[in-house]
This record gives sequence, structure tokens and C-alpha cells, in this order.
Amino acid sequence: MHFLRNLIILFLICIAIKINLCVPTIPSSLKTLPIDGHFDFKQVHHAAKDFGNRYSFLPSAVLHPKSASDIATTVKHIWEMGPGSDLTVAARGHGHSLQGQAQAHRGVVINMESLQGPKMKVHTGNFPYVDVSGSELWINILHETLKHGLAPKSWTDYLHLTVGGTLSNAGISGQAFRHGPQISNVRKLEVVTGKGEVVNCSEKQNSDLFYSVLGGLGQFGIITRARISLEPAPKMVKWIRVLYIDFATFAKDQEMLISGESTFDYIEGFVIINRTGLLNNWRSSFNSNDSAQASHFKSDGRTLFCLELAKYFNPEEMAIVNQEIMTSLSQLNHIPSTLFKSQVPYIEFLDRVHISEIKLRSKGLWEVPHPWLNLLIPRSNIHIFAQQVFGNILTNTSNGPILIYPVNKSKWDNRTSVVLPEEDVFYLVAFLSSAAPSSTGSDGLEHILSQNKRILELCEIDGLGVKQYLPHYSTNGEWRSHFGPQWEAFVHRKSTYDPLAILAPGQRIFQKAAPLSL
Ligand code: FAD
Repeated sequence: MHFLRNLIILFLICIAIKINLCVPTIPSSLKTLPIDGHFDFKQVHHAAKDFGNRYSFLPSAVLHPKSASDIATTVKHIWEMGPGSDLTVAARGHGHSLQGQAQAHRGVVINMESLQGPKMKVHTGNFPYVDVSGSELWINILHETLKHGLAPKSWTDYLHLTVGGTLSNAGISGQAFRHGPQISNVRKLEVVTGKGEVVNCSEKQNSDLFYSVLGGLGQFGIITRARISLEPAPKMVKWIRVLYIDFATFAKDQEMLISGESTFDYIEGFVIINRTGLLNNWRSSFNSNDSAQASHFKSDGRTLFCLELAKYFNPEEMAIVNQEIMTSLSQLNHIPSTLFKSQVPYIEFLDRVHISEIKLRSKGLWEVPHPWLNLLIPRSNIHIFAQQVFGNILTNTSNGPILIYPVNKSKWDNRTSVVLPEEDVFYLVAFLSSAAPSSTGSDGLEHILSQNKRILELCEIDGLGVKQYLPHYSTNGEWRSHFGPQWEAFVHRKSTYDPLAILAPGQRIFQKAAPLSL
């Protein structure tokens, strides 16, 4: 009897010690770390928010690092706590994730934007590049490199994102057909691994880590510095849009353009569903004549496909560029009355989404739920996808832009961690929906999520070979199926660089302290 009572007391003491060890003392052990930056244990709510506005996981602490060494010290400390601690670490770039990917439930969020590495440095010469912090915003890189007449080759549509955030995914925009995604335009990285080691890597040095991190969803290391390839920057951009009624003709023209060498510098496209008035509401960057011209064309509620093109130039090349554009346009089969042209400075073209952001913010429409769905679809199945989705699922309206454009797989490096469809050409289809807060109608969150679900089910049932971009899954089985034959290599990389699964817990691929399984 005595023995049993003592056993129970011992058991209770053990629980008390464990609770004491695991919960309250974690922040205090962080407090004693020798770092130049600081931890915040109170103001942590900001780190539980992101652009998606749907997930919120409160961390125990936010680290505001001053250097890569602050990050390394913190991660190493947590690594040394061993598998018994539940503490995880999420790097937070600009927090533009959609489903809590940069959050860490009761863990440590690293506010990358407080990192104060060496200043951004542009190197001119035959193969120009820029060395930047992993926390740098692409818009700042644009401003700095332009001072030297240079700029990165590959972009995202929106530039207020960090280098670490986009390189963890891929970084895709209308230049990707020619230059590949942003992860194809990086020469070198400095990374803090899940063991708290600071490692330099490139194609030649620690190459496995280099390719693991690119498109690696933050699983293998925190990018603290990156070397990005540059090219001479143009001053101006001819920005062109043409419309199609027939998807097959639209896709054929897009594919013809991305296979040519000297067509355009940027090729995208988007879908316009059942909005007769939309032509008059095109982005303000198009001149007012467009509305007048557009009003002659009536879509009568039909779904339209808009091809969006850009050609870079310098003023002295105007005549030859106009000639080249005319030649390229003459090969297209768009609706003849729908050719809209504009001419803007290069910087204005690249930063175009920011103009929409300012407008949406002023109307309180930026910080709403964003149930986005991004898919990569093999060329051979894009027609059946378009027919089903735009013909059956999204017939009435869309709740935001729907981008659709092809890219060449040959411009992607298959050593990176990113997961792609199997064919040489695949389409990015991005449903960039905004949900009206508290609406229960067709613009509400539930309705949009159920549409997304129907789209995913269609891909699954018809076996379309689709991969999610900015993937989000909740079960281990779904992640395995996403990675397919790449799963084993991904798990092997994880066990090499972050064996305790400390990093990027918000992606929900691996669980800390859970055994890594193949
Ligand atoms: P965060 O949301 O802060 O982080 C994203 C993930 O990366 C997290 O898992 C985080 O832990 C990890 N991470 C962050 N920093 C680092 C680091 N330094 N090292 C390692 N891991 C890190 N994507 C495109 O490809 N093309 C587009 O055109 C495009 N347009 C967009 C437009 C808007 C308005 C928005 C909101 C997003 C867009 N995206 C686009 C998606 C965007 O690239 C990703 O959401 C990206 O992750 C956001 O960057 P961030 O700095 O906000 O990252």
C-alpha cells in the first residue's frame, strides 16, 4: 500500500517536473542566450497572422535577430534540448503565407526582417549578381540593382515578399518560361541548418544542401544570405493584352510564344468569367482609350481568356522593338478588336500588384481571408481542366484573379526540392480568391473553399497529374502523394539537415520528435 502511494507521488512529481521543464522554463532558457538581437515573449500576436488570414498559431516567443549568428545560436540551443523538447522554429519572412506556413505553435518565430546582415552589394561585370540578406524584400533589390542599370532576371508578380520566402517555394512569374523560376537564378546561399550550423552552399560547395533548400518549403535550413543573378535592366516596357473566346486558341498561342526565343520577355494570361463590365475596369495602368476601345467589344457574359505580354526596351530601340512586336502579334489568333497596348517604366511594370494592394487596403479589402489555390498542370491535361473548371465549376463569377500560363520545365533544375508535373510544359493556374468577411454567399469563405475542393477532386478523379504550388496538406499520406517518387529523397534530406524536425513546423510535413518515416 505504502509502495503504491509512493509510486503515485513519484509519478505526480515526474509530471510536475516535466510540465515545469517543458513549458515555463523554455522561454527563460532562451533569455540567457548570448545574442545581439532580442526575444519578445509578450508581443507575439503579429507572428500568428499571415496573408491567408485563416490560420493562427500563437508562438511562445519571437526572436528579432540582428545576425545569422543569433539565428544559429537559437536553433543550436533548441537542437541541443534534444527530442524531448517540443520547441520548433519558424522563419517568418514577410508573412505572406496562406495557411500558417511561417507560424510555430508554441514555438519560436524568427522575425527575419530584423536581420541586419552585411549591406546589399551589387557586383557588375560579365556575370553580374547581387548579394542580399535572406530577409530582403524583392522590391528593395529592384531599387538597389537599378542604380547599377541591372536587375534580377526572374520575378514574382508581387515584390513585397522576402528572398527566403520565395526561394523556399520557387518564385514564378511571366519571366519563368525563359529564365526559369527564381530558384533557377540563385548562385549561392548561406543557410542555418536544423542543427544550428551556418553553412555556405552553391552548385559546387555543399551542393546537396543548396538544392535541398531551393523549393524546400523551409524544411532544411533558414536562408540568411543569397547571391542572385542579374541582367541589364531595360528602362521601359511595352505592356500588351489581347482577348480570346476560345481556350484552345488562347493556349495554342501561349505555347507558341513560350517556345520562341525572341518573342516577349514576359508571358502570362488570365481568365475573365461572366463580367461584361470588366473591360472598362481594367487596371489603371492602361490608358483611358482602352475603355473606349473595349466598350465596342461585348463579351455577353462569356468566359474570356486574356493573354498578357510584355516586351522590355530602351527608348533608342523603340523602332526595332515595335517591329518585333508587330511580327509576334501577327502570328496570334486573338479577337481582332481586342488589342490593348500601354507603355510604362520597367519599375512600374514589375511593381504593378502593389498599386492594387494600395487600392484594396484603402477599401479594407486587403486583410480578408485568402483561400488561394495554386496548381501546376501538365500541358496534355490543361484543356480538360479548363473545360471542366471554367465550364462547370466556376461558371458564374470568380472571387479574384485567375492566372493561367505555361512554363518550360527545361528551365527548372531537377536537383531542387520543388515538385513538378511530369511533362516538359506545364501551366501555372492560380485561383487568387478573396473572401468577403462573414458572407455566406458565393463570395464567402465556405463557398470558395468548397469550389477549391471540387477543383482538387476533379484533378484527382480524372488523374490529371496536377501538383500543388505553395502546397498545403494536413496528413502524412497527402504529403507522400504530393512528393511521389521524391518523398524518400525529401525525407533523407530532412534527416540530414534537420533530424529533429525543428524547422518550418507550419508546413505540417514532419512532426517534431516523431520518428521520420519513409
Ligand atoms: P513567409 O510567409 O514569411 O514564409 C513562407 C515560408 O518560407 C514559411 O514556411 C517560412 O518558414 C519559410 N521562410 C521564410 N523565410 C525563410 C528563410 N529566410 N529561409 C528559409 N525559409 C524561410 N509566389 C510566386 O511564386 N509567384 C507570384 O507571383 C506570387 N505572388 C504573390 C502575391 C501575393 C499578393 C502574395 C501574398 C503571395 C504571392 N506569392 C507568389 C506567394 C509567395 O511567393 C509565398 O507565399 C512566399 O512564401 C511569401 O514570402 P514571405 O516572405 O512572405 O514568406
